[in-house]
Amino acid sequence: MSYTLPEFLAHAIAMEEEAAERYLELADMMESHRNDEVSALFRDMHRYSLKHRDSIRERVGSTELPKLKSWQYRWRTPPEMGDEDAFDYMIEAYNALKYARANEVRAMEYYRSVTGESGDAEVKRLAGEFAAEEQEHVEALDEWLGRTTRPSQTWEQDPEPTR
Ligand code: ZN
Repeated sequence: MSYTLPEFLAHAIAMEEEAAERYLELADMMESHRNDEVSALFRDMHRYSLKHRDSIRERVGSTELPKLKSWQYRWRTPPEMGDEDAFDYMIEAYNALKYARANEVRAMEYYRSVTGESGDAEVKRLAGEFAAEEQEHVEALDEWLGRTTRPSQTWEQDPEPTR
């Protein structure tokens, strides 16, 4: 993944926007099931994603960004589930947190792979910074998972999604 700086920034903005949208959905979902604590966490994550997007936009300034035709880093529901199933499934706070965590890990791994492969020093530097930020998100979600009651049926009992 050897991106030019504008390509990289365009991906990073798209990823933050995607994360912001998903967190808002999760926050609303938790709220409608009266899980205010986890809802508040997701609202914070929503805000952080928007803040991060805005700071990337500032970095972009007047640079023209390429339009992304398609990109691989949209959030994923577990592969064995359709979207409707996933919704029911994520009503459990634990599963919602796991879902968010899996996607944060993907974002972190994406940024790390860019750090490793990019030939552009600025892309490398920014990707390293973003990877560290995603790692903080993963850690925050881990903390919450540690405090959240596991439902009787969890991803732990399912084969771990490998892709
Ligand atoms: Zn994140």
